[in-house]
Amino acid sequence: MTATLPERPAAASSTTPVPEGATVAFRSVAKEYAGHRALTGFDLDLGAGELVALLGPSGCGKTTALRSLAGLEAVTSGTVSIDGRDVVGVPTHRRDVGMVFQAYSLFPHLTVQQNVEFGLRMRRVARAERARRAAEMLDLVGLGDLGTRYAHQVSGGQQQRVALARALVTRPRVLLLDEPLSALDAKVRVQLRDEIRRIQRELSITTLFVTHDQEEALAVADRVAVMRAGGIEQIGAPEELYATPATQFVAEFVGTSNRLRSEVVSGRVRLPGGEVPAVGACADGPVWAYVRPEDVVFAERGLAGTVEQVSFRGATVRSVVRTAGDVLITLDHRADRRRPVGDAVCLAITAQAVAVAAID
Ligand code: ATP
Repeated sequence: MTATLPERPAAASSTTPVPEGATVAFRSVAKEYAGHRALTGFDLDLGAGELVALLGPSGCGKTTALRSLAGLEAVTSGTVSIDGRDVVGVPTHRRDVGMVFQAYSLFPHLTVQQNVEFGLRMRRVARAERARRAAEMLDLVGLGDLGTRYAHQVSGGQQQRVALARALVTRPRVLLLDEPLSALDAKVRVQLRDEIRRIQRELSITTLFVTHDQEEALAVADRVAVMRAGGIEQIGAPEELYATPATQFVAEFVGTSNRLRSEVVSGRVRLPGGEVPAVGACADGPVWAYVRPEDVVFAERGLAGTVEQVSFRGATVRSVVRTAGDVLITLDHRADRRRPVGDAVCLAITAQAVAVAAID
């Protein structure tokens, strides 16, 4: 059985952004491949115009979740809805989603302009209107002057911009991005990441962004859903996930943390140099305490150790210090605080509160 979603209302004029994206809901979604559970009890809501990043290690089910929303995978059970309507059984071309994948997947025998027009041709939009809308989208992604080139005549970053323009030209309700930046070099990746965010905000388009790169997820998303083994481990605003990881998995996956053996007494964590509150409720007993590298400093006294590694990272320097019991502690600091490898140093922890997890 197939069903069709209502047409998205046309913008008042070609340059007027459509104000609202769709809402999206996954409810108890399971997907099995020959007995292997790629998704299990997967629940996720996207608000209208929200950008949610699905973040997680390889094989945790990110792409399967995205493809289930696209209609490229049939879910085994559960519901997927767009604007409150169950789309299970609705074919991809009727779900009103735009997609950009890791591989640029442009048609090599078509020009940039023709690539962008493609979806409109399929919808039998008249030639002049096609040309106008494609040109508008190419302007939006900053490629207004490259329309006549063939796909292989533009760079990788430009090809992904074309793919984005092609995905957006039909004014979909939902944009699906599956590792769209991972084939690009670091500088282009950051530029395009910021561009995607700008365009997504400008169009208010509800967006699901799949990535295994935590920095990317934290930088672009309104909320980040950390996935593990087919389900969502924690979802929250980037700052919230970073400051208050709910589980050991999230603490170790999102950002860099020093994992220190510690103890909780009456909700306070005993760290070298003092006690600080534990993030969230926590029973007394031995715990792993997660201390961010920016919350450790070189000090006059404190935890003694020897500098083992120093790496320049642009705005900051990252040092690794070997302390008693061969515990390695990573700290990020300004370049003028740099200490040479082999130096005997002391460390202090400046965190106001730390995330903890029970030691199994
Ligand atoms: P990656 O970051 O490596 O792309 P992912 O989180 O996107 O990983 P998925 O591609 O969703 O992971 O795959 C989830 C699980 O389902 C994996 O164990 C994968 O091997 C399995 N899987 C995916 N597609 C199929 C398929 N067509 N047949 C069988 N198993 C599959």
